[in-house]
Amino acid sequence: MAILITGGCGYIGSHTCLELLSAGYDIVVVDNYYNSKPEALKRVKELSGKEFPFYECDIRDEEGMNAVFAKHKIDAVIHFAGLKAVGESVEKPMMYYDNNVNGTLVLWRAMKNNGCSRIIFSSSATVYGSENASPLKEDLPTGAVTNPYGRTKYVIEEILKDICVADKDASAVLLRYFNPVGAHASGRIGEDPNGIPNNLMPFLLQVAIGKREKLSVFGNDYDTHDGTGVRDYIHVVDLAKGHVKAVEYALSHTGATPINLGTGTGYSVLDMVTSFERITGVPVPHVIAPRRPGDIATCYSDPSKAKELLGWEAEKTLEDMCLDSWRWQSQNPKGYDE
Ligand code: NAD
Ligand code: UDP
Repeated sequence: MAILITGGCGYIGSHTCLELLSAGYDIVVVDNYYNSKPEALKRVKELSGKEFPFYECDIRDEEGMNAVFAKHKIDAVIHFAGLKAVGESVEKPMMYYDNNVNGTLVLWRAMKNNGCSRIIFSSSATVYGSENASPLKEDLPTGAVTNPYGRTKYVIEEILKDICVADKDASAVLLRYFNPVGAHASGRIGEDPNGIPNNLMPFLLQVAIGKREKLSVFGNDYDTHDGTGVRDYIHVVDLAKGHVKAVEYALSHTGATPINLGTGTGYSVLDMVTSFERITGVPVPHVIAPRRPGDIATCYSDPSKAKELLGWEAEKTLEDMCLDSWRWQSQNPKGYDE
C-alpha cells in the first residue's frame, strides 16, 4: 500500500511526507519543481532515515502520471500540486485554471484508469468567501470568492463533489486549510518563498532576519480587537498530521467530505508581530499601511468537525509557531539555497 503525494516537495507537502513516513506509510512523490527545490525532499529523507520514489512530472502530463500509477500500487492520493499566489492568479487566470483545475482533472483520470478513487485535496478557507461570519463551519455556503486562485479551489471542490455523486467508489476529503505557518522543529524544512512573500509570516521573517526593512501592516481600522486583520494561524506540523488522519478517513469512507483544518483561535496582525518579538526576542520593525484590496477583517475556523470525524485537533501553540518559524529562517537565511 502506498500514498501518492502530488506537490510533495512544497511547503505543506514536505512536512506531510515526513509525518506519513513516521506513521509507517509508504509514499511516492510527484512534483514538477515549479515552486520547490530537490533539497526539501533530500532533507525529508535525512530526517526520516527512509527512501521513497520521486518523479519529476507535471500532473497535467497524463502519460507521465499513468506511468507512475503503473509502477506503484497507489491506494490514495494527497493532492497538493497547485499554484497559490492570489495576485498572480488575477494577472494570469488561464495559468491558474489550467494548472489547478485541469491538473486535477488529468490527475483524477489517471487515478481512475489505474483503480484508485480516493483523494485528499488541499482546499482553502478562501472558499468561504467574504460573506460568512467566523467561526466558519463546513456547512456554510461557499463560492463567493474574490479572485481566480480562490475560484480554482471552489471549482475543484465542486468537481470532486459531483464525481463522488456519480461514482459510488469515490472518496474525496476536501481539507480547508486556514493559515499555515511554522516549520519542522528540527529547523531543516520550512517555507521557502520565491521573490517577495505575499503572506504575513514569511514577510515578517524576512524583516526579522534583516532581508527587508519593515513590515507593512495592512489596515488598522478593521472591526477587530486592535483594528488589524484576524486569522486562524495553524502550525504546519499540525496540518501535516491532519493529512495522516485524512488518509485513514479516505481509506474507510466514500463520498465528498469538506473538513476545516484550523485551530479555532484568531490572532490579529499586531498579535503576531508582538508575540513573535516577545517569544524570540527579535524586533520586527513595522508601519501601518492601507488595507490590502480583497482582505476581510476576520477569518477563523470552527474545528469541531475535524475532531469528530478525524480525531484530530491542533496541538501546537503560538509560541511553537514563532519559535519554529524563526529556527527555520535563522538557520536557513537563503531558504534551500545554501
Ligand atoms: P507550495 O507551492 O510550496 O507547494 C506546491 C507544490 O506543487 C510545489 O512543490 C510545486 O512545485 C508543485 N506543483 C505546482 N504545480 C504543479 C504541477 N502542475 N505538477 C506537479 N507539481 C506541481 O505550496 P504549499 O503552501 O505547500 O501549498 C500546497 C497546497 O495547499 C496548494 O494547492 C495550495 O493552494 C494549498 N493551500 C496552501 C495554503 C498556504 O497558505 N500555504 C493555504 C490554503 C491552501
Ligand atoms: N498582512 C499584513 N502585511 C503583510 C501580509 C499580510 O498586514 O505583509 C495581513 C493581511 O492583511 C491579513 C493577515 O496579515 O490580515 C494574513 O494575511 P496572509 O496573506 O498571510 O493570509 P490571508 O489574507 O490569505 O488569510
